[in-house]
Amino acid sequence: MIPIFDGHNDMLQRLVAAGPDAARLWQQGDGTGHLDLARARAGGLVGGFFAIWVPSPAHPDEAAHLHQMENPPFALPLPPEITPEAALPPAFAQAATLHHLHRAGLLTIVTGAEDLRATIAAGGFAAVMHMEGAEAIRDEDALHLWHAMGLRSVGPVWSRPTRHGHGVPFAFPASPDLGGPLTPAGRALVAACNRLGIMLDLSHLNEAGFDDIARLSDAPLVASHSAVHALCPSSRNLTDRQLRQIADSGGLVGLNFASGFLRTDGRRLPLEDIGMMLRHLDHLLSILGEGGVAFGSDFDGALMPREVPDAAALPRLIAAMQDHGYGDALIRRIACENWLSVLERTWR
Ligand code: ZN
Repeated sequence: MIPIFDGHNDMLQRLVAAGPDAARLWQQGDGTGHLDLARARAGGLVGGFFAIWVPSPAHPDEAAHLHQMENPPFALPLPPEITPEAALPPAFAQAATLHHLHRAGLLTIVTGAEDLRATIAAGGFAAVMHMEGAEAIRDEDALHLWHAMGLRSVGPVWSRPTRHGHGVPFAFPASPDLGGPLTPAGRALVAACNRLGIMLDLSHLNEAGFDDIARLSDAPLVASHSAVHALCPSSRNLTDRQLRQIADSGGLVGLNFASGFLRTDGRRLPLEDIGMMLRHLDHLLSILGEGGVAFGSDFDGALMPREVPDAAALPRLIAAMQDHGYGDALIRRIACENWLSVLERTWR
């Protein structure tokens, strides 16, 4: 089986909600969601990024928003900013749950590239602690504390305004060029992450913020879970100009499996044709080259394609890549090796 390393999942939400049953939920699953250790093993998944993410309060028009996302065009409003005081307790609970699974021996929180390779080689499950939207990072002291807790990847924003910058609102069709540049706090966060060797994740950033990080950061540019704007003009997808900037930095894009970011019509309905995932991979390869493309599933955070409904179905995507003519070496790079390489060049 081809080993797979994944750039993004939102399972920590489900694990925290499970309370004392978190370890059992991770080991065996509960018949819902997209990811657990049993389905990871069945699909060849050997590790991935676990996102710490603070949900926005439910919007009164949530049902209407879902209806709009199934019926583009749409342009949803950005949720309000979340203060560090409000973000810290849920972020802490998610980090604590990941450490609980680590202590129970059910996964390994990896903090270095050697550690990552050794965990995978030993047959363990490698978890990278990621923060999607840095609301819980009040200042550089807090960033150092999070680093000491194992944080090795930070997205300065989710799709929300923050003290660091501006996330893209969910919109289709739309350019990612919405909102202003990074704030002074956002620029300081980039410098501090560079100093600590924490990966900066460009997914969810607007174009002005993306350009700021491209100019300021000394690390390869990475978008952990994004797709191709030329094929699906969602505000969340990357334009060819952005893909070329990532390529120039020796960086990487993890293909997001979210149906609404893959379908040419942008509808938030299950993607019927797995071939569309190959079209996105082909396009990414044409600009980023064989070393710049990987996976960023968004398991437990998005609506999955019909043929890849969960982690256990990953071999179907691998088989589709084989049928499409990708050789074994290229598939192994996209599935795992490219992530290991970019992390080796980023962490220190
Ligand atoms: Zn996301």
